Amino acid sequence: MTEWPRLRADLDLVEGYHSPQLDVTVRLNTNESPYPPPPGWWDEIHAELAGVPFHRYPDRDARSLRSAIAALHGVGSDQVFPANGSNEVLQSVLLAYGGPGRVALSFEPTYALHSHIAHLTNTGVVEDEREPDFTLDPQRAVAAVKRWQPAITFLCSPNNPTGRVEPPEVVQALLDAGCGLLVVDEAYGQFSGWSALALVGDDVPLVVTRTYSKTWAMAGLRLGYAIGAARIMAGLDRVALPYHLDVVKQVAGRLALTYRAEMEARVATLIAERERLAARLAELAVDTWPSGANFILFRPRARKGAEVWQALVERSVLVRNCANWPRLEGCLRVTVGTPEEDDAFLAALEEILS
Ligand code: PMP
Repeated sequence: MTEWPRLRADLDLVEGYHSPQLDVTVRLNTNESPYPPPPGWWDEIHAELAGVPFHRYPDRDARSLRSAIAALHGVGSDQVFPANGSNEVLQSVLLAYGGPGRVALSFEPTYALHSHIAHLTNTGVVEDEREPDFTLDPQRAVAAVKRWQPAITFLCSPNNPTGRVEPPEVVQALLDAGCGLLVVDEAYGQFSGWSALALVGDDVPLVVTRTYSKTWAMAGLRLGYAIGAARIMAGLDRVALPYHLDVVKQVAGRLALTYRAEMEARVATLIAERERLAARLAELAVDTWPSGANFILFRPRARKGAEVWQALVERSVLVRNCANWPRLEGCLRVTVGTPEEDDAFLAALEEILS
């Protein structure tokens, strides 16, 4: 009889984090850009790839891509670490600075992958709480740091799935408290008014993570990066696999940044649309929270969240079902889409709630 390899026992404790990829008309569940990247970008990629020697490994250090990202943010190339999506950046942070005998601190509810990847890398996880309105009290955050002495502290700003932007005082209070390596996950950073990038420096134990998956409209390409002190980035390089970024990604990611004006226009359009969506939601029988991102968390008042989610699916509208997540009972999260997609969502929701 075959002796099947046994899965690591501790993985039984770790559940995946997946949104079902259902075949629906209106997909508002994973916070992607509803608009594709500019056509000119695609043409440029084609032209440049024609001259690429595909039988050779790509530039292992992705130097052109790193320097383009560095120029975008006005930092040094040695303060940039790119990887296959910002999730891989988070994994690299935990591999390099977490691990057995160390703990990572998060403030719940927040992006589930922070504690999920911590578990996978055998990093201890300690979870502290946000206030009922999902803000984070700096005094409480500092007390948690003193108590747990984390190697890594995670913030997410704007916070997924609540939409809250973390104010500078909270970030500074955590740094002042000696919270270990502070990771501010800014996957949605361009949608909000303030960025922790302002605090990055070679003498600050701070990493800000960004992604190409949202504002740059390139979720299919899998590219993200960290900005932080050069010595921290050197630590992340130590755990990256050789040639971890393929040549297509390096070219595409560098060229995308030449379309900054188009990206900013897309962000402005989505912010205006977010405000329209928020105003319409406020007229329905749901609770909502202010969002600085490209999604809105809401909770139907009179009906169960899971039922409303199912009823939306039956109307070919897919949103994120957070109804069973701890501290988010009954909540759903809707991504800001095109005006047509948002209208379809609103019409379906109105019908379900009426
Ligand atoms: N951080 C946050 C807060 C996110 O919401 C997401 C995407 N769901 C990611 C990181 C991961 O993004 P990616 O790996 O596509 O860059």
